[in-house]
Amino acid sequence: MIDFNHVSKIYKGTDTKALDDVSLHIDKGEFVFVVGASGAGKSTFLKILMREEVPTAGDVIVDGQSLNALKARKVPYYRRKLGIVFQDFRLIPTKTVYENVAFAMHVIGASQKDISRRVAYALSLVGLSAKSKSLPTQLSGGEQQRVALARALVNDAEVIIADEPTGNIDPEMSKDIVDLLEQINLNKGTTIIMVTHEVDLISNYHKRIIEIKNGHIISDSAHPEVAAENIQAIQGEAPMNAPSGYYHAPTEDAEIESFLMNYGNDKPDDPSEDADA
Ligand code: ADP
Repeated sequence: MIDFNHVSKIYKGTDTKALDDVSLHIDKGEFVFVVGASGAGKSTFLKILMREEVPTAGDVIVDGQSLNALKARKVPYYRRKLGIVFQDFRLIPTKTVYENVAFAMHVIGASQKDISRRVAYALSLVGLSAKSKSLPTQLSGGEQQRVALARALVNDAEVIIADEPTGNIDPEMSKDIVDLLEQINLNKGTTIIMVTHEVDLISNYHKRIIEIKNGHIISDSAHPEVAAENIQAIQGEAPMNAPSGYYHAPTEDAEIESFLMNYGNDKPDDPSEDADA
């Protein structure tokens, strides 16, 4: 479903290869952890997959579609395949839980009837039906991340991309979030790609682990015994991204709204116009 074919990325004004000849295949329905130290290239990997950045060399094929060949006006349609969850939740603080999830459907022009049905369903999947009228500030970090997950799911994304989703929540709730991702993966067959530096957390899950270092994939295995060796090796390597505390103030509403618009509506900013390649 996802193929990186010899992908390299050098950002404008730098000579570092943020990604260096990365090739990999991710099947539909797989659950993959992507790990690595700060600066390894994890975000670059995700940004290229989300078509926020374009590779300097190589191409990414998703469902048979080349991202290099994807026309700018098709990018929002491509992104509808993706549900994205961030470390800092990116909920709109003035909107309720229900409205935050519904917003992702409004931007793609869904009908009111579909919105009520799908939002109720997404909130039930993450166990937050009872909190639909709460504001994000009335929720714990773990609950806020579940709202973000409901928002990522509500348009029936084929792939959930979770970028350090447990970085801002306490360890017990972190496990709940990964358990939830696992349930979504098993029950709905959604492909899950989770970037994390929390190696202890993921060592409890027997999933494929891809380790990136200096822009290279240095290990990639679906086999738990090999993954365990990798984990030991990774644990010996500091520094990982430091977790940035229990709760982060959400970014400005306008910024979050504009982000969401870019992930759904028909007239987004064009990421290819200021692309580095
Ligand atoms: P990670 O997510 O693993 O911390 P990144 O993908 O953010 O790693 O970074 C990989 C490399 O690319 C680092 O050397 C980083 O400094 C560089 N880099 C990332 N984003 C940019 C950018 N927008 N401009 C220039 N260099 C960048």
